[in-house]
Amino acid sequence: ALPGPKAAAVIAKRKEYVPNSVSCAYPVVMEKAQGAIIQDPDGNLFLDWVGGVGVLNVGHAHPQVVAAIKQQSEKYLHGMFNIVTHSGYVNLAEQLAAIAPVKGNGKNKVFFANSGAEVNENAIKIAKTYTGRPNIIVFSGAFHGRTLLTMTMTSKKAYTKGVGPLANGVFRADFPYLYRLPKGISSADALDYYLARLRKVFEECSPADQIAAMVLEPVQGEGGFIPAPLPWIKAIRKICDENGILLIADEVQCGFGRTGKMFASEYWKSVAAAPDIITTAKSIADGLPLGGVIANQKIMDQVPIGVIGGTFGGNAVACAAGLAVLKIFKDEQLLARSQKIGERCIREFKKWQTKYPIIGDVRGLGSMIGIEFVTDRTTKQPATEFVKQLIQLCVKKGLILENAGVYSNVIRFLAPLVITDEQLTVGLSILEESIQELSSR
Ligand code: PMP
Repeated sequence: ALPGPKAAAVIAKRKEYVPNSVSCAYPVVMEKAQGAIIQDPDGNLFLDWVGGVGVLNVGHAHPQVVAAIKQQSEKYLHGMFNIVTHSGYVNLAEQLAAIAPVKGNGKNKVFFANSGAEVNENAIKIAKTYTGRPNIIVFSGAFHGRTLLTMTMTSKKAYTKGVGPLANGVFRADFPYLYRLPKGISSADALDYYLARLRKVFEECSPADQIAAMVLEPVQGEGGFIPAPLPWIKAIRKICDENGILLIADEVQCGFGRTGKMFASEYWKSVAAAPDIITTAKSIADGLPLGGVIANQKIMDQVPIGVIGGTFGGNAVACAAGLAVLKIFKDEQLLARSQKIGERCIREFKKWQTKYPIIGDVRGLGSMIGIEFVTDRTTKQPATEFVKQLIQLCVKKGLILENAGVYSNVIRFLAPLVITDEQLTVGLSILEESIQELSSR
C-alpha cells in the first residue's frame, strides 16, 4: 500500500511545513529517478508519464546533463550574467537563435529567465515596448503561469480565486476546441465562428491598433492537450500582420521535442505562418530552472535598458544543462523518437476509444497526446470523477499520470522521450487495465 512508512514520514512533514495549496496529488516521494523511472524511499518503483509536467523530455537525471552540471559547477555556479558575461549563456542563446522558427530574417536573439511564467511576462514586456501598445489578447483554456500578469492571462478561474485585482489590458478570445464546439456550430463553420469571436474582442474590449500581442499555445497544455488548428493559425497570423500585432507562441509545455519537432510552431510552416516571439522553459534544461524568450533582433534590441533582466536568469549551471539537452536531442535522435512514441500511443489510444465508451476523444501532436473522458458521448458530460479515480488506481499500480483540461477530464501523455519500448508497453497495459477495471465497476 502507498505510501510506505518512509514515504509517509516525508509526506507528514510536508503537511506540517508546506502550504496545502502547493498541489500534490500522489502519495509518492522521490528518492531516486533515472530516465522514466522514479524510486521511492521504500523501494517502490514508478513509471513516470508526467515528467514533472513536461519538464523532463530527456528523462530524469540524464547522465550527460548530470556530467555537464558537475563540470560547470567545478568552475563556477552563478556566472553573474547580470554583471559580466559567461559563455554558457551566449552559446545556448546562439544555438536556440539558430533553430527557433521565429519570423524575420533569421538574425534572432535570446533572453533567459527562470521559469515559464517569467519568460511569458518578459515576452509581453518586449511586445509592448516594440509596438507601443497597452493591451494583449489571450485565449480560453490557456495557462501561462502564476505571476500577476500571467495569472491574469491564464483562463482557469480557480487559479485566480481571491487574488484580484488582476492585471489590466488582458482580453480573452475563444480558442478552437473542436471536440466541444458550441451548440449549433458545425466543424465546417468552426473557423468562421472563432474568427468572429475574435473580432468581437476588437469591437467590445480593445481596438486592434491598441493590441501589442496575441499569445497562444500551439498545443494547449493545461487546457487539455488541444492542438491549435492550422487554418486558424493561418488566419490569426494574417490578422496580426494586418494590424501590427505580434504573435507570441507559448511553447513552455509543447516545446522542446514534445510534439516531434523541437518547437511546435514548426508545424505552422505548412500554412506559411511563424510566431514573432517564442517562449520556452520546462524541458529546456532537464529540470533546472531556465526559460528563454526568442525573437528577431529587431524586436529584442529595442527594449529599453532596465526593462528585462534578473539576478538568476540564465545562470551558468542551468545553461550548461541546456547545452547538454540540445546535444542529447541530436545524439539520441529524440525528435524521431518523439514521433515514434506518439504514433504508437495514438494508435493504441484510438483502439481503446473503440472499446471503451468512456473515451470521448483522442488527440495530439507527436508525443503530446490527450485522452478526453466523458460519461456520455452524446452530451459529452466530462468524466471528471472517473479520471480522478483512474489516476489514483494507476499510481497504485506504479504508473504516474496527470490530468488536464477545463474539466480536469483529460489524461495527458507526457512521458520522458527516453522511455524504452518495454516501459511504454508496461505503462500502456497498466492504463488500459485500469480503464477497463473502472469502466466495469
Ligand atoms: N506556459 C505554459 C503553456 C505552461 O504549461 C506552464 C506551466 N504549466 C507555464 C507557462 C508556466 O511555467 P512555470 O511553471 O515554469 O512558471
